[in-house]
Amino acid sequence: MAQEMPGGCACGRVRYVVAAADDDAYLCHCRMCQRTTGSVSIALKSVKQADVRWSHEPDWYESSPIARRPYCRECGTSLGFQFKEGSDKMDLTVASFDDPSRFKPKHHFGAESIHRAWLNTEGLKEIRTEDYPVLVDKWVEATGSFPG
Ligand SMILES: [Zn+2]
Repeated sequence: MAQEMPGGCACGRVRYVVAAADDDAYLCHCRMCQRTTGSVSIALKSVKQADVRWSHEPDWYESSPIARRPYCRECGTSLGFQFKEGSDKMDLTVASFDDPSRFKPKHHFGAESIHRAWLNTEGLKEIRTEDYPVLVDKWVEATGSFPG
């Protein structure tokens, strides 16, 4: 049932593989997660620490007296959350998985800090990356092609 799923940071220095038991994930809205990721909310997947194999260990940010957060000091990617003690589980950031698409949000956490204007954005104008010429032109100028 558990599927081995790889992931890692933006620059590729920190990599992991985890046995994900299911597709359940959640959105955290707490201020600590907002500040450490720079995001209005952060999608997290809870896993057992013992099921995570780091092929290159992450750096750890001591974000509070009770928790620490794996990240990459080279590219700055936020990779998750872990209590310092008292739990055999940890969270990995959904978007750090190589394929985040299977995970589905099952609940909100840190509800006291939800920025409600960002919760339901369905219906807003949608612009695809390849339809933004400023960005495409810069890629073509720098590398000869657009990677999208
Ligand atoms: Zn990195």
